[in-house]
Order: sequence, then structure tokens, then C-alpha cells
Amino acid sequence: MARILVIEDNPANMKLVLLLLRNVGYTALCAVDAESGLTLARAEKPDLILMDIQLPGMDGLAATALLKQDPVTATIPVVALTAMAMKADQEKIMLAGCDAYIAKPLSYMELYAVIDTLLVASQAAALEPPFLELP
Ligand code: MN
Repeated sequence: MARILVIEDNPANMKLVLLLLRNVGYTALCAVDAESGLTLARAEKPDLILMDIQLPGMDGLAATALLKQDPVTATIPVVALTAMAMKADQEKIMLAGCDAYIAKPLSYMELYAVIDTLLVASQAAALEPPFLELP
């Protein structure tokens, strides 16, 4: 089962997300700020990252941009968890390199659906031989 890193500073949100992930069998790793999240991501190479945007110190957008610039972590799908739902914010989230975003309050069905879609897509990309060209 996939390993998912959750970067979230709000204890209630963290508790909820961990519960939802573990309920369906995912292994969850957690960090309460961007700096420790980046360190964990590089060390553990999780299959997916759930990234809160509003974090103390470095925010989730800056952290995502760093993850996407680092070859070790660049292919890990990042899902932004955000209270911001305005159009301009969606653009900022995508520009930072996030693969998807989920607006808070979290819907567990949406969370599972987004995770599922991204894990299937990244597994397919990993299996695809980059050098093979079919006629
Ligand atoms: Mn937060």
C-alpha cells in the first residue's frame, strides 16, 4: 500500500487526514512544517504528498516549488490542501507545481478519489519505458 506524507500544521486537520488515510490502509508519514516535510520527503520518498498551503515559516507553495526542482522528489505527486478557493489562488497552486488541490473542509470521498487518480497515473508513468517507441 502507498506511503503518503502529510504536511499540515493544524492538529485537528492532521488528525482527520491521518485517520482517513489509515482507515483505508495507507501508511501515513507526517510533518508539521515545510522544512521538516522537505527533509522527510527527500529521506523517505513517499508515493504522494498532501501539502497544507498555510504553514508557519515557509508556506506550502514554496515547499512544493522546492520539491519539484529537486530530481529526488520531482516526480512525487503533490496535492495542495487549501482553504483558498479563489481562481487566482488555484493558478498560484498549479504554478507552484502542485498536481491537484483539495479545498477545506475536506470531503473524504474527494480526498480518496484524488489520491487514487494520482497514484494510478504516477504508477503508469513509472512503468512506461521512456526509450521505447511503438510503431
Ligand atoms: Mn495550516
